[in-house]
Amino acid sequence: MKKELQLEPINTWAPTAHHPLIISGPCSAETEQQVITTAKQLAATGNVHVLRAGIWKPRTRPGQFEGMGLEGLNWLIQAKKETGLPVATEVANAAHVEACLKLGVDILWVGARSTVNPFSVQEIADALKGVDVPVLVKNPVNPDLELWIGALERLNKAGITKLAAIHRGFSSFEKGPFRNAPMWDLAIELKTRIPELDIICDPSHICGTRELIPFIAQKALDLDMAGLMIESHINPDAAWSDAKQQVTPAVLAKIVKGLVVRTPSPDDKNVKDSLSVFREQIDQLDDEIMQKFAARMKISEKIGQFKKENQVTILQVNRWEEIIHTRVALGLAMGLSEEFSREMLKLVHQESIQVQTKIMNKADVKV
Ligand code: PEP
Ligand code: MN
Repeated sequence: MKKELQLEPINTWAPTAHHPLIISGPCSAETEQQVITTAKQLAATGNVHVLRAGIWKPRTRPGQFEGMGLEGLNWLIQAKKETGLPVATEVANAAHVEACLKLGVDILWVGARSTVNPFSVQEIADALKGVDVPVLVKNPVNPDLELWIGALERLNKAGITKLAAIHRGFSSFEKGPFRNAPMWDLAIELKTRIPELDIICDPSHICGTRELIPFIAQKALDLDMAGLMIESHINPDAAWSDAKQQVTPAVLAKIVKGLVVRTPSPDDKNVKDSLSVFREQIDQLDDEIMQKFAARMKISEKIGQFKKENQVTILQVNRWEEIIHTRVALGLAMGLSEEFSREMLKLVHQESIQVQTKIMNKADVKV
């Protein structure tokens, strides 16, 4: 039996004991002006408790922007001075840790590409021996709970007790609507295995597109996560990394204000009326249905491309008849009315045809 982790709950060490704790800032520190202006705007919203910025960027492919290094770290420290907000950044080796500790970074995090590698995690843990600094551990890129727990254990063995996990989703071969599949079960399993460990959700890296962020952020809170890390940039579309998933400080504030914070209490079940329990179940199912529709449309796109390349017509009557026949029969067997199934399928089919038509009519890019 493994020794349990020695942990201090996040509300005893987070700079401001807020629930949820909101960490925000750009994916990367790019220029002094971008860091300071973003930080000031975020601080002015009153909705942000910790500033983040990536200084050393672990990029999947070489040749992309790899971070500003020490120069950027100084801007982050400057942002801390000007806003009064504590700051956080990613560390991937001992030199990063030393630089952060020397300059006064308040919270460190281990990125998803480091958590997968016990050598990297051990190097970070060794550099942190005897240091009292909070560390957040992102889940590994791949859905491996043991690696995630292993990284937390390595840091804990080095004496780090101000520990929390960050759920940022998992890489998956199947491309769904998200950049990184949330696989909520894994985060829930982590909480079940280590109940005293706080988990912060990172909707930005789960979603990959800014439009989805409010839904994932709300879902994380509904699962009782302790906080959120959301990327924010003064000019998201011009960001040097993760442009599609960043939001302006004003949008960040809107997202945070729109969140419903439900505080669980021991007698929560009695307090909740059954209507709200049912509604939560409906929310959960609708969430899954929308994801399935999105996945289905992605396949329609692929079919459109295939039909285009092979000069096949979009509408194939036999296939459509077969869909109606089998699905309506299945629906009836499960207690859905025939009319409902037909109408719903008709809508889905129309949308699918539109998606395919768009692909068919798209001019091929000449190379
Ligand atoms: C980031 O936070 O910008 C980052 C690189 O995240 P992750 O390690 O989750 O990919
Ligand atoms: Mn990022």
